[in-house]
Amino acid sequence: MTTPYQQIWQQIAQAAADCGRAVGEVTLIAVSKGQERAAIETLWQEGQRDFGENRLEEAEAKYTASLPSPDGSRPNLHLIGALQSRKVARAVALFDCIHSLDRPKLARKLVSEMQAQQRFLPCFIQVNTGNEPQKSGCSVAALPDFIRLCREELGLEITGLMGLPPATEDPAPHFALLAELAARHSLPHLSMGMSGDFETAIRHGATHLRIGTALFASKQEGT
Ligand SMILES: *Cc1c(COP(=O)(O)O)cnc(C)c1O
Repeated sequence: MTTPYQQIWQQIAQAAADCGRAVGEVTLIAVSKGQERAAIETLWQEGQRDFGENRLEEAEAKYTASLPSPDGSRPNLHLIGALQSRKVARAVALFDCIHSLDRPKLARKLVSEMQAQQRFLPCFIQVNTGNEPQKSGCSVAALPDFIRLCREELGLEITGLMGLPPATEDPAPHFALLAELAARHSLPHLSMGMSGDFETAIRHGATHLRIGTALFASKQEGT
């Protein structure tokens, strides 16, 4: 029987092969929001090491206890949801990578906490490519100045751009725009692609896929 994890990797490998990319360029982040610890452990046993959560409290509840690990490895935790400035200290303590950096106040807070804790996390800048007022993310217009602030003034490690296309639109132009912006600013990574559109995202250069529903499909069907 093929597990959802194996199935997704087959699809990733196929999509990468179709556009001449190496599958090793792609990191799969299992988005475990709303999932039980048991479902996370199942994926962990299958070899999954990168996990994403969009809320700090939920991540703390599920990931503070270590996962069974004979080889001593631990999960790489990615914060993929909005981060409030007052919760930055806890986020820096728990996560290994931030995908939702989107404003100067948050950038300044992250720098001071990283220095205080001596934990320097790579960050993706989230870009609101659809200009959706209800969604977080830096606007395309503000991006050049924001990147300059983060890198040159604050010395943050900006590893790439993160995007979340409008749910009702074709994601392809949004992925293309994000890729173009990353290239323009010499940023190596692109956090884009979810359960419904990750193959399209791979074609546009995604390096970090954030997949929830499709990976935890068996649980979804049973409920
Ligand atoms: C929930 C979530 C995902 C995963 O979405 P699925 O459609 O379940 O794969 C990806 N990115 C963000 C920011 C999310 O909140």
